[in-house]
Amino acid sequence: MAKSPSFTCTACGATHTKWSGRCDACGDWNTIVEDAGLSAGGKKSLGANRGSAIQLTDLQTEESPPPRTHSGIDELDRVLGGGLVPASALLVGGDPGIGKSTLLLQAAAEFARAGVKTIYVSGEEATAQVRMRAKRLGLSDAPVQLASETNLRNILTTLEAEKPGLAIIDSIQTMWSDTVDSAPGSVSQVRSAAHELTTFAKRKGVSVILVGHVTKDGQIAGPRVVEHMVDTVLYFEGERGHQFRILRAVKNRFGPADEIGVFEMTGRGLEQVTNPSALFLSERGKPSAGSVVFAGIEGTRPVLVELQALVAPSPHSQPRRTVVGWDGGRLAMILAVLEARCGIPFAGLDVYLNVAGGMKISEPAADLAVAAALLSAREDAALPEGAVVFGEISLSGALRPAPQTENRLKEAQKLGFTTALAPAGGKAIETSGIKVQQMHDLTSFVGEVFGAG
Ligand SMILES: [Zn+2]
Repeated sequence: MAKSPSFTCTACGATHTKWSGRCDACGDWNTIVEDAGLSAGGKKSLGANRGSAIQLTDLQTEESPPPRTHSGIDELDRVLGGGLVPASALLVGGDPGIGKSTLLLQAAAEFARAGVKTIYVSGEEATAQVRMRAKRLGLSDAPVQLASETNLRNILTTLEAEKPGLAIIDSIQTMWSDTVDSAPGSVSQVRSAAHELTTFAKRKGVSVILVGHVTKDGQIAGPRVVEHMVDTVLYFEGERGHQFRILRAVKNRFGPADEIGVFEMTGRGLEQVTNPSALFLSERGKPSAGSVVFAGIEGTRPVLVELQALVAPSPHSQPRRTVVGWDGGRLAMILAVLEARCGIPFAGLDVYLNVAGGMKISEPAADLAVAAALLSAREDAALPEGAVVFGEISLSGALRPAPQTENRLKEAQKLGFTTALAPAGGKAIETSGIKVQQMHDLTSFVGEVFGAG
């Protein structure tokens, strides 16, 4: 039976029945390619033998948590959910050149020093290059075993013989399997390689870490096409011009998602940042108009970040709305609520919003801090010194309490803040030693902080 051709987006992995110039799912252009398919038909990987019976359990039985190995890098262990789980498959994605190889080489060295037999396979660089990096990072003495190889068959044969505890594959896009009839980096090759490696991880009890480059080029499949195959998906974020890097868990079978680890790029590689709030606020000077400190929560941990807004008369008929580190749609919503509920128009004004330090925020609790930054920039009036802001804004203009209010307040107090501007009704507000100005809606917030508005 002839199989109808299918098409896959190399950026987001969505499948389409026909080719088009733009992917409906993610909106990227020129990313859709024809799918050669996994080696359908022909090869039977399971053979003719019957499978063995699966052991079934009831709903009550308590399972002991999986044993974990700690890398000793706390920021990494936290994102992993408390350490590396044996027989798990991880994906570490990120832009090329952001520091993934550096981070993973450091992790490989730490796991090897912790007694895990570790193999690092680079398909990107020669072993001499990896060795040079290790020397620069002061890791040469770590008992990591290196190889430079892209042939999946050879890699699996080697891993089977060596029986490591951890194998790092850098990167999944350079791997090729001779059972798939397309070029390395194509969707089918990347999927096939990821599938082989993850099933190998489960079967042999080896932890496998796959490195995936985020690509904008339609010829090379991005890490998103294999996200569903692995247990844990981590993304390494940051701007090249900034020294901060954030490792974020977007999926984790063995721990909380949304957990972040914060690192700083230094001459000696990536160093973990144990107090991210202090780092994100370190470049902040005196309180100025448009600058607001948001008390946020990332995963299980409170993190304070500075939001900066600039509002200026626009020379364009369509004023600019530029956002870095936050959601553009959400910004439009806040501007609409300010206009409709508080009578503060932004028409004819260019609006720029930036999250300092290259951080990305997705929490709705940032709404009120964004509104405060916009108003402060528009009115050219700084917020009171020592104030943090958080809270969600609804379309009616009402303020909703944010989750983990107490943690946010504690962190703010720890870093020397004295006042919090927050929605009314949050629990445990009285218990902390920080002055909390509670407000029910955006109008009263505007009145209280910026006078009559
Ligand atoms: Zn897409």
